[in-house]
Amino acid sequence: MRKPDLKCYEDKKTGNSRLCVRCQEEEDMEESLRRDDEEKERAEQKDKIDMKQKARERMKRKFAEEKRKKEEEAVKRGKIMK
Ligand SMILES: [Zn+2]
Repeated sequence: MRKPDLKCYEDKKTGNSRLCVRCQEEEDMEESLRRDDEEKERAEQKDKIDMKQKARERMKRKFAEEKRKKEEEAVKRGKIMK
């Protein structure tokens, strides 16, 4: 049996369409697959954002560490010069 392209039933007055159980199941499956895809995409997006934030935090820590070292060295040099 060939699956019709159109929905199984459409009320001409209201424009509401209704699917038979078989088509409804297919539709639900497609819908859930679509949702899975969307969720995966969202998760990937979130990962990307997390990675960016982590990279930024690493940079900040690195800069802070370098600044601290420079200050320490400056203090040491100051002590030596005195
Ligand atoms: Zn159907």
